[in-house]
Amino acid sequence: MISLDLSAVRLGATAVDKTDAIRQVGRILVEAGYIEPGYVESLLARERVANTFLGNGIAIPHGVPKDRGMIKETGVAVLQVPDGVEWNPGDRVHLVVGIAAKSDEHLQILTNLTDVLGDAAEAARLARTTNPADIGQRLSTGTAPAKPAAEPLPDDLPNHFDAVITSPHGLHARPATALVDIAKGFGATIRVRHGNRAGDAKSLIALLNLGIESGTTIRVMAEGADADAALAALRDAIDSGLEEEEETAGAAGSAELPRIDWEGPSVAAVAASPGLALGPVWQYQRGKIVVAATARDPAAELTRLDRAIEAAKRELAELYEEVKARTGAGKAAIFLAHAEFLADQGLTDRAKLLIREDARSAGYAWEQSIGEQAKVLAAQQDALLAARALDLRDVGRRVLRMLAERIEDEPKLPDTPVILIADDLSPSDTARLDPALALGICTAAGGPTSHTAIIARSLGIPAVVGAGDSVLDIADGSPIVLDGNSGTLVLIPTDADRANAERARADMATQREAERRACYQPAITTDGARIEVVANIAAPEEAGRAVEAGGEGVGLLRTEFLFLGRDQAPSEDEQTAAYTEMVRALNGLPIIIRTLDIGGDKAVPYMSMPAEENPFLGERGIRLCLNRPELFRTQLRAIFRAAAHGPVRIMYPMISTLEELKRAKALTEEVRLEVGAAPVEIGIMIEVPSAVMMAEELAAEADFFSIGSNDLTQYCLAVDRMHPLLSRQADGLHPAVLRMIDATVRAADKAGIWVGVCGGIAGDPRGVVILAGLGVRELSVSIPSIAAVKAQIRGLSMEQARGLARRALACSTSAAVRGLR
Ligand code: PEP
Ligand code: MG
Repeated sequence: MISLDLSAVRLGATAVDKTDAIRQVGRILVEAGYIEPGYVESLLARERVANTFLGNGIAIPHGVPKDRGMIKETGVAVLQVPDGVEWNPGDRVHLVVGIAAKSDEHLQILTNLTDVLGDAAEAARLARTTNPADIGQRLSTGTAPAKPAAEPLPDDLPNHFDAVITSPHGLHARPATALVDIAKGFGATIRVRHGNRAGDAKSLIALLNLGIESGTTIRVMAEGADADAALAALRDAIDSGLEEEEETAGAAGSAELPRIDWEGPSVAAVAASPGLALGPVWQYQRGKIVVAATARDPAAELTRLDRAIEAAKRELAELYEEVKARTGAGKAAIFLAHAEFLADQGLTDRAKLLIREDARSAGYAWEQSIGEQAKVLAAQQDALLAARALDLRDVGRRVLRMLAERIEDEPKLPDTPVILIADDLSPSDTARLDPALALGICTAAGGPTSHTAIIARSLGIPAVVGAGDSVLDIADGSPIVLDGNSGTLVLIPTDADRANAERARADMATQREAERRACYQPAITTDGARIEVVANIAAPEEAGRAVEAGGEGVGLLRTEFLFLGRDQAPSEDEQTAAYTEMVRALNGLPIIIRTLDIGGDKAVPYMSMPAEENPFLGERGIRLCLNRPELFRTQLRAIFRAAAHGPVRIMYPMISTLEELKRAKALTEEVRLEVGAAPVEIGIMIEVPSAVMMAEELAAEADFFSIGSNDLTQYCLAVDRMHPLLSRQADGLHPAVLRMIDATVRAADKAGIWVGVCGGIAGDPRGVVILAGLGVRELSVSIPSIAAVKAQIRGLSMEQARGLARRALACSTSAAVRGLR
């Protein structure tokens, strides 16, 4: 803990505006030896993305975490502005408390400040005092003694202490979880009393039901052999604020995107498509989980329930680690709270009673128990408590899904601008969305390589995925903020949140405009390396749009669009017309036409494909084409005819063996001779681990490689990219995938051929740097990402990129890769 050095308190200052005030307090920090001068800019940068106005005339400017290196020593400085300075419209600040926090030693000062916040007279006194010691004493030691929780009650336990809860939102899920965790470490009976109501300190639900708000005095009581030690530990924890400081900036995958510290209660999810949306919620569909009402064998139901709870706990532990790595421990802690709900004896006891005594099924009993308890929480009519009821329902559904008989859905599409929330979206549902109506997309399930994420990026709609089932309970029409940069849903945005969202949207629009104006400039790094940025397209009209957006060609034409949703295969003429239209629209720029990649999730009824147990490991991509030579030949003929109008390259999908490549090439050559066309470059997609392992041999037969990181990730990590629960683990930045990409590039280099990437990581800001560093020469991305990816490369040096790539290859988890700075 630190105390405030009085030489860092400046009284009677004036400031023309907020920036001036921040610069002045920054200078005091510099003079006191706490920071390097550069950190003053960091204080201003933080203010641009987050509002540091606390209330009662106090603001606490503090820099962004990535600049912590410029802090020499943790310290606090105070600028007193008796006449005040406008911070936000309508908010005047008299005490500017500048914070340089290298560690959490300043937390006690913040806690003391929180006391002042609840005391307008004290804040006014400090704003005018002429004695720096008044401020020093108030912030260093705090003077407000904790008021007693209440008169002693007959059932109070013998040992106790009173304490004020200073967490800004009271004893909400995260601080309460921290308290429960500590209490559980002791054998003593521990109870917390708020007014006349008391609850078991080892039960999260009991603590939440006490409705303890910020500034409330509580009594913590204990009885038992280790009561004294328990009280000492709990007192320490409460004194230091109970919550970890949010690591909001820097730690996330897309550190290059603006970060905002949201104030309102929020849900952490996976960032899937960048951008911000502010608008009313529209629940796209509510998956109805159907469970059996009764069951014959109670013992079997009890086991099912235990198993489902254990499986949900495992999921939550993984989610915690993942979100922590992406967005910091503060946001991730909510998943610890969820796991704590599952450890609540009261919840399981009630469900088990219903199974044993009423012959209920595990699903029915669990649903009942969660519903009853969530109602109790929601009945407190406090917005933040209502959010806790959502948390409880969320974790309840996580378990319930595993006990479901079936899940019923009723899809519908919006007709007014909304933020669309869905359990999950199928590829065709997402593709039908109109970006003018869908301001943002949030799905409860899914991961960054799910089709929702890919399609949202291609439509330029901000999106978050894997948000958990609690989002399905948000009422239609609720105004929320969706932050696709950090992967956050702000459920009850404060005024400052709304203002920040609007400002960030305006800033992003300005940045996008600057990128758009520079979109035709080549993507050349600061040290002169050129990376081609081309487009992924899947419809004739997109070729022209790709060029307008600055694309230097098409790196992947998914030709499946011609074959799906119809009764018979397209004729050679129809295909020729479509390909020719695109080649012409590209006006001399190259196009890579990928031959048909049907199979897997994309079935085509008119091809009468036999049902397969594992379609993703079955007759898919090049295998299907080689087994149906007429289909393949027709497509190749059309491609060669279109190649007469401009530079065309052919690419085969899903190559897994050298034989496949040789057979495909032989057939292609036969067709070329039939058509009488000139030779074209022939490349393959690298999206199967065997292709990576055989890359040297394959490189001898190919003109280029294009890495399909979506499938490579799915096959490398053995995670279905569309799996509702697992797909969030399908992260293309996993070191296993990156090492495969590295091996592929090295094999290609040896053979003298170039490598591109056309999967989702090519458009991920973190992926762009790593792929460039690994030696990838072409990035093929969705049309809306082209300008930003080019701009990002222009601001990058190959030395930086290689450094990051080297460190990424040495990581052991994808979380570690995303956490690299
Ligand atoms: C990939 O797998 O990364 C890829 C680009 O192909 P698709 O997404 O069409 O399977
Ligand atoms: Mg693929």
